[in-house]
Amino acid sequence: MTQGRQAGGTPRAALAELLAGNRRFVSGQPVHGHDVTAAAAASGDQQPYAVVLGCIDSRVPLEAIFDQTFGAICVIRTGGHVLDRAVRGSIEFVVGQLGVPLVMVLGHERCGAVGAAVDALRTGQRPGGSLAHLVDEIAPAVVEAGLDDPAVHPLAIRRHVRRTVHTLRHDAALAEPVAAGRVAVVGSLYDLATGEVALLDPP
Ligand SMILES: [Zn+2]
Repeated sequence: MTQGRQAGGTPRAALAELLAGNRRFVSGQPVHGHDVTAAAAASGDQQPYAVVLGCIDSRVPLEAIFDQTFGAICVIRTGGHVLDRAVRGSIEFVVGQLGVPLVMVLGHERCGAVGAAVDALRTGQRPGGSLAHLVDEIAPAVVEAGLDDPAVHPLAIRRHVRRTVHTLRHDAALAEPVAAGRVAVVGSLYDLATGEVALLDPP
């Protein structure tokens, strides 16, 4: 396995860099302006140090909220950060082939995908098409949160992040490097109003 080198190659260093970038973003002092010179500088071999799996929500642009430049992080976004084989294969590629030591799952407040799952369970009306896949994957988190709880939506958002983290930690290709401490999978939550990312279970 090669090493993701931009942030030192360890899960701890990668997480520290990612969260430092979020603090720069929140404080209004970003380092990266996303100009074309950054693209050119990163046009050789890529050495990202983290992969972030987040939601498609337009209010949560991942490179921006972590103040990351070209070549620094890999980004995967699906509705409600739901996993499928393509997502899992992509994460396995980034970890196994690019040597990335950190996988972050980032949920966010007022997630529409989680809201759709809550609505589907409340009404008993499962959406058609492939949207059903998103609802089916999020539904267990809603049930765990308690459909009758007035705070089911925010609670289910947190449950769903933790369930996604759990699934990835036990992925056939990730379990060994995770157990050995070479790779970490962490869950986090994005606050739409403040821009802050908080770890759900800080180390
Ligand atoms: Zn969302």
